[in-house]
Amino acid sequence: MTQTTTPKKKLFLRSWGCQMNVYDSHRMADVLAPLGYAPVDAPEAADMVILNTCHIREKATEKLFSELGRLRVMKEARRAGGQDMLLAVAGCVAQAEGAEITARAPYVDLVLGPQSYHKLPELVARISRAAGSVVDTEFPTEEKFDHLPEASAPQGVTAFLTIQEGCDKFCAFCVVPYTRGAEYSRAPEAVLAEARRLVAQGAREITLLGQNVNAYHGADAAGAEWGLARLLEALAAIPGLLRLRYTTSHPRDMDEALIAAHRDIPAVMPFLHLPIQSGSDRVLAAMNRGHTADDYLRLVDRLREARPDLALSTDIIAGHPGETEADHQATLRLIERVGFAQAFSFKYSPRPGTPADGAAGHVDEATKDRRLQEIQSLLRAQQAAFNASKAGQMVDVLFTGPGRHPGQLSGRTPWLQPVHAIAGLELVGTVQPLRIRAGHPNSLAGELVSPPPNQEQHAA
Ligand code: SF4
Repeated sequence: MTQTTTPKKKLFLRSWGCQMNVYDSHRMADVLAPLGYAPVDAPEAADMVILNTCHIREKATEKLFSELGRLRVMKEARRAGGQDMLLAVAGCVAQAEGAEITARAPYVDLVLGPQSYHKLPELVARISRAAGSVVDTEFPTEEKFDHLPEASAPQGVTAFLTIQEGCDKFCAFCVVPYTRGAEYSRAPEAVLAEARRLVAQGAREITLLGQNVNAYHGADAAGAEWGLARLLEALAAIPGLLRLRYTTSHPRDMDEALIAAHRDIPAVMPFLHLPIQSGSDRVLAAMNRGHTADDYLRLVDRLREARPDLALSTDIIAGHPGETEADHQATLRLIERVGFAQAFSFKYSPRPGTPADGAAGHVDEATKDRRLQEIQSLLRAQQAAFNASKAGQMVDVLFTGPGRHPGQLSGRTPWLQPVHAIAGLELVGTVQPLRIRAGHPNSLAGELVSPPPNQEQHAA
């Protein structure tokens, strides 16, 4: 493939939502690079703009259309000057609402679902021949992974690697099973090869991504199925790869082997994002989560038994349809009982076509607001207490890059807390023991206690 003779074209990519979308945006840039597209920081002078959307965001569709309205003005200005700006909408909103996008914004050239990114070059070529917009929102996940190029742009000291896509759980509030399709796991050999490439490019910590990542069950060339625990073990053996994480997990897929991996594999960090969504069994049943609050608490106990310093993060929805005040109180009690180091909490917001959207008992906005505030104030206090508890301790920190102030580096603890410390750039990509001077609500301040011994990396 010729990569050097094509004149550079400017590509502006805007990504909303989860890390899967950020990862997909990198891959879209990779797949367009051979066509001469190079990323730029602003849309005004771009030859192509891709909006990589997220359906989980509140009012995602309205925000998309208002962004498209601004881009239409830029596209028309470029056309008046004899140039064009290809406009593409990707991601989950594109998948769910492709027809509405082309009807309401006919100036959009391309609408593509998450499984079509490998076809971008072909789709871009089709646009030049097409009279109207091109829409590709099929579900061939396997084909996508087979055809995407090897990731080329280095991600840095911390990198993401998608190992699994889609979900078969059908939680009542969620669009993922409709937008990303059925659960699909990549072959372990492909995951390991990509991880080795990332490490060769400087990655020291890899976060494995998947909508339901711990449902991973990739088949190897011999046809043997690997669970996530086996994959983590193989990844941990890659020289230079110091830390492993994975997200997002479902409580029902935390099997014994995976719990044991937290105990037995030092590279698996003692931090787990494990969504609970509600502390009420009634609401969990309405959500179709397939577990109770007590199941979750017993799972947390088993995890902490295996790895006593494990910190947990979670997702919580305030005001799911049918949620009563007693249900809300049960959620607050569960949060108190677990003690989360971090959390993401949201007001329930209907997703068209999902069972929860059509369910009875929608909670009014004021009540949802109040419940969310109560949940968040508890979670904020827990996060602040967790960060403060690290003050005075020695903690292994992976330095990831320069900090905001001169002479400062940023890094992260095993529990994903951001840390700042005075240290030289040569320590980026290494793990160093730091004394934590202070634990702030959102980050830690640390200091090197002695010159690092011959500046070698050591496993976290
Ligand atoms: S498990 Fe997660 S991705 Fe799957 S349906 Fe439920 S919330 Fe959505």
